[in-house]
Amino acid sequence: MSLTQPAVDGVQLLGRIDPNRLRRAEPLAPYTTFRIGGPADLFYDATSADDLANAVIGAREAGLPYFVLGLGANILVGDKGFRGLVIRNAARAMRFEADGRVWCETGAVVRDLIAEAVRRGWSGLEHYVGIPSTVGGAVWQNLHFLSPAPERERTMFIEEVFQSAELLDERGTRRVVDRDYMRFGYDTSVLHSGREIALSVTFRLAPGDVGAMHRIMQENLSWRGARHPWLDIHPSAGSIFKKIEGVGAGRLIDQCGLKGYRVGDAQISHIHANIMVNLGHATAGDVRALIAHAQQCVFEKFGQRLEPEIGFIGEF
Ligand SMILES: Cc1cc2nc3c(=O)[nH]c(=O)nc-3n(C[C@H](O)[C@H](O)[C@H](O)COP(=O)(O)OP(=O)(O)OC[C@H]3O[C@@H](n4cnc5c(N)ncnc54)[C@H](O)[C@@H]3O)c2cc1C
Repeated sequence: MSLTQPAVDGVQLLGRIDPNRLRRAEPLAPYTTFRIGGPADLFYDATSADDLANAVIGAREAGLPYFVLGLGANILVGDKGFRGLVIRNAARAMRFEADGRVWCETGAVVRDLIAEAVRRGWSGLEHYVGIPSTVGGAVWQNLHFLSPAPERERTMFIEEVFQSAELLDERGTRRVVDRDYMRFGYDTSVLHSGREIALSVTFRLAPGDVGAMHRIMQENLSWRGARHPWLDIHPSAGSIFKKIEGVGAGRLIDQCGLKGYRVGDAQISHIHANIMVNLGHATAGDVRALIAHAQQCVFEKFGQRLEPEIGFIGEF
C-alpha cells in the first residue's frame, strides 16, 4: 500500500466539508515562511470558523491525521510532506465593537488586524507589527516582542490584550474560554496540548493616538529590519531555538563562530545566529542537519542543550 492510500480513502469519510475543495498532493513549501516542505496528501482551505471546525471534526471522524496551518511561520515541514489532511486556516472575518473589543476568526492575519485597529484608533496590537502570524498562531504561542524603545523596554505578550476565545475541544464541543484557561506562558499556551483548536478570539484594545501608534510601528519595523534577515529575500522560520535561562540561543551559537555556517542551502544567518535562512533550495534535511550541528557545537563549548522552538511537521 502506498503511503498516501489511507488519506485518500479518508476522503469518502470527510462528509462535513466540500470534497471539491480538497486538493491532493499539495506542496506545502509555498505555505510556509521557510519555503520548505513536501506535499500534503490532502489540503483544505477553511474559509470560516464553522468551516474550520467542520474540517477538524471531519478529519477526527475519518481517523485522518490533520494539522491546522496558519501562515506556517513557526514550523519546519519535512521533505516527504504530511500524511493526512492539512487544514489551512483562511477564516479571516473581523469585527470591531465601539468599546474597543475586536472579535476575529483565527485565520485573520495579524498584520491586517493591526492595520485596521490603528486606522480606527485602537491600541495594543501595533507592537507586533512585522511578525508573520495568524491570530491562531499568535495565541498558540503567546506572540511576543521585546520592545526596543526605552520608555517601554520590556517583552510584550499578546495575552495582554486577549479577552476570550472560542475553542473546539476534542469532543467537538465549542465553548468560550477566558485568559486564565489559556495558560499563557513564554512561547506557550494551553493549545500546545494539541487537543483544542482556536476558532475565534476577542481582544480588548484601548483608545490610542494614531500618530503615536504609527511611530511605534516605524520604530519596531526599523529595529527588526536592522537585526533580522528580510523574509522576502531570505526565507526563515524566525528564531529556531528557545532561550536558555533567559539567555538568547543566538548568543551561544554566535560564540561558537557559526554565523554564516551552511549545510546545503540552509545557513545560520550572518546577522542573527538564532535564525536559519533558506538560500534558495534548502531542504528540511539541510535544516535538521544545521540544527544538529549548532546543538552539538553549543553543547561541546558550553554544556548547554539547545531546544528547538519551531514545530516539526510531517515526514522527514
Ligand atoms: C521572520 C520571523 C520573525 C518572527 N518574529 C517573532 C517574534 O518577534 N515574536 C514571536 O513571538 N514570534 C516570532 N516569529 C514566529 C512566528 O511568527 C509566530 O510563532 C507566529 O505566531 C506563528 O503563527 P502562524 O500563523 O504562522 O502559525 P503556524 O506556524 O502556521 O503554526 C504554528 C502552530 O500553531 C498551531 N495553530 C495555528 N493556528 C491554530 C489554531 N487556530 N488553533 C490551534 N492551533 C493553531 C499550528 O497547528 C502549529 O502547531 C517569527 C517568525 C518569522 C518567520
